[in-house]
Amino acid sequence: MSETRLAFRTCPLCEAGCGLEIAVQTSPLQVINKTESIGRIRGDMDDVFSHGFICPKGSTLKQLHEDPDRLRKPLIKRNGVHVEVEWDEAWAEVAGRLQDLIERHGRDAVAVYLGNPNAHSLSAMLYNRTLLQGLGTHNRFSASTVDQLPKQVAAGYMFGTGVHVAVPDLDRTDFLMILGANPYASNGSVCTAPDFPGRIEAIKTRGGTVVVVDPRFTRTAQEADTWLAIRPASDALFLMAVVNVLFAENLVKIQDRIAVLLNGLEDIRQACQRFTPEAVSDATGLDPQAIRQVARDMSAASSAAVYGRIGTTTTEFGTTASWLVDVVNTLTGNLDSVGGAMFAKPVLGGPTTRGTSGKGSGFRIGRGGGKTKVNGYPEVMG
Ligand code: SF4
Repeated sequence: MSETRLAFRTCPLCEAGCGLEIAVQTSPLQVINKTESIGRIRGDMDDVFSHGFICPKGSTLKQLHEDPDRLRKPLIKRNGVHVEVEWDEAWAEVAGRLQDLIERHGRDAVAVYLGNPNAHSLSAMLYNRTLLQGLGTHNRFSASTVDQLPKQVAAGYMFGTGVHVAVPDLDRTDFLMILGANPYASNGSVCTAPDFPGRIEAIKTRGGTVVVVDPRFTRTAQEADTWLAIRPASDALFLMAVVNVLFAENLVKIQDRIAVLLNGLEDIRQACQRFTPEAVSDATGLDPQAIRQVARDMSAASSAAVYGRIGTTTTEFGTTASWLVDVVNTLTGNLDSVGGAMFAKPVLGGPTTRGTSGKGSGFRIGRGGGKTKVNGYPEVMG
């Protein structure tokens, strides 16, 4: 007879860090062979962070674990073919060739890709930094490179570091506008919140409004009060038109404590002049009246937050769109304010917990003259 035990783990796939309850089964034959197999995976209801929520990726970790194509040993390419080797052999290969390669071609001849699970592994957190510093290459890539650096560049220039990302105060906002994100499927990204769908539903229950701006009628769009079916990659134009309406209709209401920290307000007012709702309507596929209404509703709400995610960052003008998300949050009086877009403060260790406000070396891109190979753009956080 099979035996089942429950194992409690944290999903390593993304920063949501959902708690998993894994049923591990052992058949009589497996007892003899000292093997186990995964039965089912579901959310750990007692997890203090995720409260039992997991997305489809978490619930299918069994399939990933058992995928015959999953790498189980290191591979070395020999005569054009990847060959499985033991770890000692792999390390010997690295040790034997890395130094020579760097000496002949320079440190940037080495590239590193850090996948998401590196951010959720204590050993990787401890030793990756040392490894990267030892290698000294600018060619560092990660999941962030693929999907969120425009947001970090915008945050760096606006707020001082690439991790000063303002996130919506979900539990207290009265108006949430989501662009290019589907938290019903993902549990949130860059803005992680246990049971994100439940929190969206709570906004509506307390009389608030949820607007989803997305080309797809996503699961989140289905639950929203308003779905704006924008054309892909035109978020920057849409947001610029919202800014245009805020200025044109005297709806700008910046808090005094934020106003004294702002630069370039007049520049933005000038820059948005030609981006009227009518001017961007064809490119965005949105009714000018719908754009106006969003700007008016946001301004009228007692609190509001714009949250832009992967659909706004993995496109042309992703940095501009990411910047405009916080321009709108600022102009509507919702930056760093209750129910608006706020800055998370870790207990310790993050840049938001160190230093003196207003002081620091600031954010730079293109350090050391580094440029991307394909388009020649300046290096970012390499
Ligand atoms: S949201 Fe999905 S992928 Fe991310 S940690 Fe939770 S279960 Fe894993």
